[in-house]
Formats: sequence, structure tokens, C-alpha cells
Amino acid sequence: MTSIIGHTQLALVQGDITTQDVDAIVNAANSSLLGGGGVDGAIHRAGGPDILAECRQLRETSHTSGLPTGQAVITTGGRLPARHVIHTVGPVWLSGSRGEAELLAACYRNSLQLAMDRGLHTVAFPSISTGIYSYPVEQAARVALSTIMAFLKAQPDWFDEVRMVLYSRYDFEVYQAALAELQQSG
Ligand code: ADP
Repeated sequence: MTSIIGHTQLALVQGDITTQDVDAIVNAANSSLLGGGGVDGAIHRAGGPDILAECRQLRETSHTSGLPTGQAVITTGGRLPARHVIHTVGPVWLSGSRGEAELLAACYRNSLQLAMDRGLHTVAFPSISTGIYSYPVEQAARVALSTIMAFLKAQPDWFDEVRMVLYSRYDFEVYQAALAELQQSG
């Protein structure tokens, strides 16, 4: 399923983010930047040790206390088909009234901004925060897609493609429904 916004194709696919052939894939990292489970573990396994080496370097230089929630940094993609990995830290779902939606939106916005700053034209995202961090996927899908769409409306000429890569069939269907709803509401 795709939607065209300005020059950009916003695509939803079901699949594995580590195999995506794009300029950058986004990692749902944790603030340590030193690896974890879920998509983070899969990216480090597939991309090899160069990604972790650059993350360690960031921890020793610009990010000695780790990466705050909502912010993003970029490293090599190592052995991945993607040349770069953008690491961002999603919010842990608590009650929904602890600023989770704004922090999740910041992950998408800051990752897209960083990709632009680095001259990258194709980016693939996983469903940030909806695994170990327990953000309800129906709500996360609306935040993710509305944030990406607003960014692309403000920057209609830069990206060739922004892709959401949903791991499960269920998540893929939830994101499809959310995109259809957002398209209808204009
Ligand atoms: P978080 O800690 O931000 O919740 P997780 O990695 O636990 O991050 O989960 C985020 C989402 O990534 C979940 O929907 C999970 O199913 C999905 N996921 C796990 N592995 C992959 C993968 N290889 N490609 C794409 N998505 C993945």
C-alpha cells in the first residue's frame, strides 16, 4: 500500500527491516546505544560489529549519558544493504499520559530530519516502541503515519521514499487501516 505526498512515496510493507535496500534504516534502539532485543538485536546481528563500534564511539564522545528518548543519531550500516542506520529511542508506554505520543512523534521527525541533513533520500522505519516498549500498535500507527505525513507535506521535494516495514501481518494491517483513515481525513 502506498500514498504519494509531494515527490515522496510513503509505502507500507510487511517484512524484515534488515533486508531493506534503502539509504538508511531506522533502529528502535535503547538509550544505551549498545544493543538490545527485538529489531535492535536483529540489526546488529545482520549488520555486524562496525555498527556497535560506532555506537560505542558516540557513547565516548557526544553521548556519554546515552541517547535521550525521541532523539536520533546515525552510524554506518555495516554489512546491511542499507548504507546507514539511524538509531532512535522510542518511549516506553506507561499510561499514555506521560508524553508518549509527543516523544514517539519526535522519533519519526528527528530521524527524517537527520536523514535529510545527511543527504539521504530513502528511509525505512520499523514500528518504533510497539514491541518490548509496549506502545499499543493502533495508537502508535496513527502517531507514526500522521507525523511522517506532516513532515513530508512540509518537505515535499526531498525524499524519494519513506517506507514503514511491519514485521507481523497484524501490524501491517493496523498500519494500512491507519493510513486509509488519515488519507480520508485529508
Ligand atoms: P521497542 O523496544 O521500541 O518496542 P522492539 O524491537 O521490541 O522495539 O519492537 C519494535 C517493533 O519491531 C515490533 O513491532 C517488532 O515486532 C518489530 N520487529 C522486530 N524485529 C524486526 C525486524 N527484523 N524487522 C522489522 N521489524 C521488526
